Amino acid sequence: PTPIALADPRVAELIAAETARQHDTLCLIPSENHVSPAVLAATGSVLTNKYSEGYPGRRYYQGNAVVDGIEELAASRARELFGVEHANVQPLSGAPANLAVYAAFLDPGDTVLGMALDAGGHLTHGWGVSVTGKWFRAVRYGVRRDTGTVDLDEVRALARRERPKLIWCGGTAIPRTIDFAGFAAIAEEVGAVLAADVAHIAGLIAGGAHPSPTGHVDVIATTTHKTLRGPRGAMLLTGEQHARAIDRAVFPGLQGGPHDHTTAAIAVALHEAAQPAFTTYAHAIVANAQALAAALAERGFDLVSGGTDNHLLLVDLTAKGVAGRPAAEALEQAGLVANSNAVPFDPRPPLDPSGLRLGTPAITTRGLRPEHMPELARWIDEAVTATGDTDTLDRVRGEVTELARAFPPPA
Ligand code: PLP
Repeated sequence: PTPIALADPRVAELIAAETARQHDTLCLIPSENHVSPAVLAATGSVLTNKYSEGYPGRRYYQGNAVVDGIEELAASRARELFGVEHANVQPLSGAPANLAVYAAFLDPGDTVLGMALDAGGHLTHGWGVSVTGKWFRAVRYGVRRDTGTVDLDEVRALARRERPKLIWCGGTAIPRTIDFAGFAAIAEEVGAVLAADVAHIAGLIAGGAHPSPTGHVDVIATTTHKTLRGPRGAMLLTGEQHARAIDRAVFPGLQGGPHDHTTAAIAVALHEAAQPAFTTYAHAIVANAQALAAALAERGFDLVSGGTDNHLLLVDLTAKGVAGRPAAEALEQAGLVANSNAVPFDPRPPLDPSGLRLGTPAITTRGLRPEHMPELARWIDEAVTATGDTDTLDRVRGEVTELARAFPPPA
């Protein structure tokens, strides 16, 4: 029996159930992935026992020589992989990292320009229910109705009129390449700090499957647990000129002690992401997403922007006559785990929007290839058009589980 099973059988049972769920279903949530056993082991290491407020060489607690080595290793790997001068690997997750960007550059009440949530932006880019929309004056850009893509002319017009101190590019449901140079020209024109939130695409950037924001933006914010395939955590990457402001914003501005076990796991994930195999992985994610997009389009699914350049697809289900939430629930019954999502100009409420967001990072980690995507599209089609039809959903689930078991997550 494992130590957890001996100490706490109930929690051990629940973890076993989650392990089985992950094995027997296919994860199509674009922000999730299956980490390597090495990342998992570092996350569960004795580093969770340590307190390390401060930065390497400047700690408030004794006993940090080893932790200093780990944090320096993680930071140096991040600098090298993303080609930046400075990396802060302490943010506890993506939202706190983004808050640190505000703390570094803005005062309460200052203006921020970010992508609207329903157009694909993240809550922390100034949406009203987030403190970033409450404590700052938030102005939002969207996407063009005809193309479903960002309209840089709109961004420029808003920036000239509203004079934001901070501009965000990137987001959480953007199926197309982000034009970092285009945003940089606008930020420069209005004298704004430009932040790229590449949480979703960090692994694609590391693997050369999406252009890098390095050299175009003032600060890169990213989580480490999505396409980058590390532990739940985040990083802020910047040039020397902003290093001190970012570091002070993270600690002591917003956080106490860093999660050293997470830092170790980030170091491992960055090492993995620097290997040639990761470049292959990043391109395979995109190849799978594009194959899935083509197969879904063939079945009459309406894809926002017509397809994808990256790891995710945004599907408008209106033409299929089903809403996002019942579709996501039917998919789950069929063993395909996804999330409902707003589509641009969505007439439906956020809790039951018109769309589905689908991504290929996790199934690509399991080894699925473009030739599997037509079958996946057929299952998705059958499930979303069979909401409430238990026989069909059970039959699809059997087929999904068979494929899932043939392609297990890393053990
Ligand atoms: N930024 C983007 C673009 C995201 O998609 C997310 C999470 O989905 C976050 C930030 C927030 O990350 P976390 O959930 O780790 O706080």
